[in-house]
Amino acid sequence: MAQTGTPKLGSKHMAKWMFAAFLLMTAMLASMSWLSVKTGFMVQEDSREMVERHIPELETIGFLQRALSNRVNQLYLYYATTERQAYLSGSRLEDDKIDHNIDHLIKLGISDQDALALRTTLTKMQLHADRFDREMTRPDSDWDRLREHLSDAQSAAIDAQGQLDLWQASIRMITMQDSESALTEVDRLAQLLSGFTIAIVVVSLFVLVALYSRLKDRDQLFRFAFYDSLTGLPNRRSLEDALQQTQQEGESGALVLLKLERYPLITGTYGHAFGGEVIQHIGKWIQEKLRVSPCDAILYRYSDDTWAVQLTCSNEPEHLKQLACSLATMSNDPFCIGDRLLNLSVKIGITRYPQDGSDSDRLMRNADAAIHALVAPGRIYRFYDAELTARTQRWLATESALRNALSDDEFELFYQAKVTANGAQVAGAEALIRWRRNGELVSPGEFIPVAEQSGLIMPLGNWVLNEACRQLAQWQARGITGCPVAVNVSAQQFQDSSFPQLVADTVAHHCIHPGLLELEITEEVAASDPQRVVDTMKELKASGVTIAMDDFGTGYSSLSYLKRLPIDTLKIDRAFVSNLDKVQDNAAIVDMILALAHQGGLKVVAEGVETEAEYRVLQSKRCDLVQGFLFSRPEPAAQFTLKLCQSAEPAGLQEAQ
Ligand code: C2E
Ligand code: CA
Ligand code: CA
Repeated sequence: MAQTGTPKLGSKHMAKWMFAAFLLMTAMLASMSWLSVKTGFMVQEDSREMVERHIPELETIGFLQRALSNRVNQLYLYYATTERQAYLSGSRLEDDKIDHNIDHLIKLGISDQDALALRTTLTKMQLHADRFDREMTRPDSDWDRLREHLSDAQSAAIDAQGQLDLWQASIRMITMQDSESALTEVDRLAQLLSGFTIAIVVVSLFVLVALYSRLKDRDQLFRFAFYDSLTGLPNRRSLEDALQQTQQEGESGALVLLKLERYPLITGTYGHAFGGEVIQHIGKWIQEKLRVSPCDAILYRYSDDTWAVQLTCSNEPEHLKQLACSLATMSNDPFCIGDRLLNLSVKIGITRYPQDGSDSDRLMRNADAAIHALVAPGRIYRFYDAELTARTQRWLATESALRNALSDDEFELFYQAKVTANGAQVAGAEALIRWRRNGELVSPGEFIPVAEQSGLIMPLGNWVLNEACRQLAQWQARGITGCPVAVNVSAQQFQDSSFPQLVADTVAHHCIHPGLLELEITEEVAASDPQRVVDTMKELKASGVTIAMDDFGTGYSSLSYLKRLPIDTLKIDRAFVSNLDKVQDNAAIVDMILALAHQGGLKVVAEGVETEAEYRVLQSKRCDLVQGFLFSRPEPAAQFTLKLCQSAEPAGLQEAQ
């Protein structure tokens, strides 16, 4: 949760920044557009004046100037050629041009005053031209006068030209100013544009980086949510989604769950880091197996020690069996992980859809139930079937009946003798719980797992402890003191921090000698957290009770770890005792356990001795105590007490001899 919390906070923060950047960018774009439009209008204003007025004005002035000089030239031509007709038609043409251009200038906006001044000068020129014409038409033209009129007309034309030059100069100046201001505006616009462009590039870069990191965060969140960080495989949530999708699409397929056996034992013995390596190793191994499978298969990490395979192309039982058999080959060869060789095995539960169920939860429960139903030794895979549902229902019924059994006083302790290997004398007993349900005895194998899973094992375990101590106190009161009693302790009890105190209190409450109480703890229980296990055991031993390691040999306890534990007794599991006289391997293991235990000063009890032959081998190997049907089955307290009382020494279960 902590891992996924951090990117969530980061992305919130990032979203704020991105929103601010977006606002900034929008504001910048808006002001840039506003400034560009405003500057554009100003430039347009300046240019329009120039294009629509000043340039046509200059052009018209040019025409006017040319017409004026043509007009004067007409006079000189007339003077030189005396051809009046040509003069009259030419001068009329130029006069029309002059009039037309003046009218145009007025239209373009020349002030009335300026127009009047020009017209006055031109009228003056016209007057002198008319005088010149009249003089020319007289038969006795006076050449001096003619020259005078000609010169006056030219002077008037020069005046008009001067006026026009002045206008031209002033218009040019205005045009220059306008174009300069337009250029300045354009420059300003260019600067603004480049400034804004840089700013936008910077902001865009920021937004880009922010977006990228946000996408990365999202990607990471997605990975956290849907992928397993240790193996990189899709996780249980991904599986749920995939199953849901196939259900919606009405597809058929199968779900195969693979549960690694004794994983807590591996992590407890070798640590979690090594456990992680094992998980990675097995994940790759399964993937290899799936690669060569003819079916489309997706591998998921389902939980700590469980993988799920979703088969999408077939749910034919034959295919599924083949796949299960191929996966079951895991136990064929030991795995070399780090510098250790491990024998690993899986239990496989298979459920098919849509026939076994359609929703993801149901399918996962089915496959889980199939795994849990694999109790028979040697069976590695199991298909889900309706019988399992009935079994689950029975399990639930047992759980509900168990809840009342304690208050209804339906439990009883049976005692099974442990006898000395040399003389077969009773040297102790193991207390084994029985449930008298509806008049029938139920064996612990049926209800202890239910009690463990439902949490009822705690009150049940306390009851056993109390009942065993009560029995010891009763024997003590009757003078029977040579029969210590061993009580089985479940993992949950042992892991409860108040357990050592509870044991001490119970022993004190019944005023029994603490040495008469032995606690049997399985290897699996002892494997969880090595330091804590050692501390709890030391605490327990401080109250005077003894500790036995039950079912020894079935787990992975390393010998070095075992040496750290303050235990008094090793109980060799029945699996190694059975056929001890026939199976060489078992004999070798028993030899090794005995040597190790005796070296460490531990007592050894061999469990499940059923035949004389097994007993004789154990005797020859100098095993300390033996327990099994050969000597005695677990019996009710009264019967066992009778046996203890009858035996003076106490012991010698003659019927077993
Ligand atoms: P365990 O602690 O290994 O107990 C020995 C089991 O082996 C007993 O089964 C006993 O009846 C059986 N047994 C003894 N000698 C022989 C033999 O020669 N051959 C065969 N085939 N079996 C033999 P039981 O009483 O059914 O108990 C089964 C398991 O239930 C125990 O295994 C123990 O793990 C658990 N259990 C029993 N009582 C308690 C209890 O009070 N608390 C807890 N937590 N577990 C208990
Ligand atoms: Ca036991
Ligand atoms: Ca045992």
